[in-house]
Amino acid sequence: MAQQRRVQVAIIGAGMSGLCMAATLEDAGIDSYTVFEQADEVGGTWRDNTYPGLTCDVPSRYYTYSFRPNPDWSHFLPPGREIQAYFRQVADERGIRRHIRFGTAVTSARYDDGRWWLTTADGEEAFDVLVTAAGVLRVPRYPEILGRESFAGPAFHSSRWDHSVSLPDKRIGLIGTGSTGTQIIAELGGTVRGLTVFQRTAQWVFPVPNPRYSALGRAALHRFPALNRIGYRFWGWSFRFLFCRAVVQPGLRRRVLSSICRWNLRLSVRDPVLRAKLTPDYQPLCKRQVMAGHFYRAVRQPGVEVVTDPIDHIEPRGIVTADGTLRELDLLVYATGFDARAYVRPMQIVGPGGLTLDQAWADGPRAYRSVAVAGFPNLFMLMGPHSPIGNNSLIPVAEAQAGYALWWIQEMRAGRVVAATPTLAATDEYNQSMKAAMPSTIWVSGCSSWYLGKDGLPELFPWVPERHTELLRHPEPADFDICWSGASEPAVSGEPNAADRRT
Ligand code: NAP
Repeated sequence: MAQQRRVQVAIIGAGMSGLCMAATLEDAGIDSYTVFEQADEVGGTWRDNTYPGLTCDVPSRYYTYSFRPNPDWSHFLPPGREIQAYFRQVADERGIRRHIRFGTAVTSARYDDGRWWLTTADGEEAFDVLVTAAGVLRVPRYPEILGRESFAGPAFHSSRWDHSVSLPDKRIGLIGTGSTGTQIIAELGGTVRGLTVFQRTAQWVFPVPNPRYSALGRAALHRFPALNRIGYRFWGWSFRFLFCRAVVQPGLRRRVLSSICRWNLRLSVRDPVLRAKLTPDYQPLCKRQVMAGHFYRAVRQPGVEVVTDPIDHIEPRGIVTADGTLRELDLLVYATGFDARAYVRPMQIVGPGGLTLDQAWADGPRAYRSVAVAGFPNLFMLMGPHSPIGNNSLIPVAEAQAGYALWWIQEMRAGRVVAATPTLAATDEYNQSMKAAMPSTIWVSGCSSWYLGKDGLPELFPWVPERHTELLRHPEPADFDICWSGASEPAVSGEPNAADRRT
């Protein structure tokens, strides 16, 4: 058997996509990888977000790795804590933990002398391939509101929930009604002393019931594992057939889903004043669609107030709106979203010749097929720019991207390729074709959302997710500048040698 070159892979992040990359390498028999994780546990967003009501709004059967079905989900929509337990279990079962450096933040990655040099508090270390899997919505965004720091009570972002603060006795002020805010409201409405919701923009809500799975059903899934695969395929197909198509293709599907949102509001909220407050002035599906079963019921509970007057400022006792009204509060929660354009930053990525990712992305994040960036050899991004995210399970997306990175890693292991970088021309062509497809999407129909980039165009994939999978299944080496290897690269074995480390 031909000797294979040992390719060292660095993965940044041990969340859903970092674990996916690690598992993909493990399945390919590659153990020469290191996962850098700045926290002390795997899970990423599911580790950081622990707010009340946290649930994934994608069916649980579909929100799993295709290679690791989970018969134990308790509900149709998986609760956050179960998802986190699932990722911990996958890390344990696959032996990934021994590759993870917990508590190790990578501050920069610099391509030098044909390798990626990663800087951590321990010094510098070199790898052949860099895979970033730092997550999409990771950096909390706090609102710029006058006096924000002056509030006297506890205040935190939804993704940094302080569980030492008791809730039932509190008058809670919640800013933000996105997917997160609505889940918190659905959970807390009517269970706390007061819940004042500061809503800047109303949201359409698609009704999704969340039934509990019976013990009998779970036992059947254990007994007949094929049922898990059927469930995965069925819910994956349904979700893609309905939501993923409706947002990128005008037509009946979009109209039907929109009507369901409109009727949901009409039938659920009879009070005309409250209904007027909750009626958006843009089309359903334009922002990331909120999927919720209990939101409208929760806002009708005693003690819940929806405030639509703009916030003027925050003071020690509470929030003052533009009409001069002070709402006194004991606790302030910012469900105000994330910096969706951070990607792997603030980590510095520096390519050959000193080109930084910030410079390459001065006009906005751009990638080739969502995974590779012109000017940065052997760099692969999971959940990179224009990935098919939104109302979709991101797990199959990560699997397709990890499979794509693996293809190149295998080429390097086989000694055929030393380095590969997508050309600027191929990257531009790909981005131009996406730009041309954007007008058909619902995201440009006139609403503000974190989907929209600097140029006002969505940083999402404008076609059905299956197309993304197909694009990644068939790499086009012609779109790359490739440094081909000599026929007989020496095989390297064992741990990185002394030359790989600089302290
Ligand atoms: P988001 O969708 O960005 O929503 C932020 C909310 O805060 C919006 O209502 C926004 O109002 C409001 N806001 C921001 N700044 C404000 C200010 N200065 N004053 C008043 N209101 C302000 O954030 P998110 O709800 O955390 O959700 C982010 C994403 O996380 C989702 O879109 C989704 O992709 C993901 N997520 C997924 C799930 C799931 O179940 N799968 C659950 C939660 C979150 P405007 O609308 O006016 O900007």
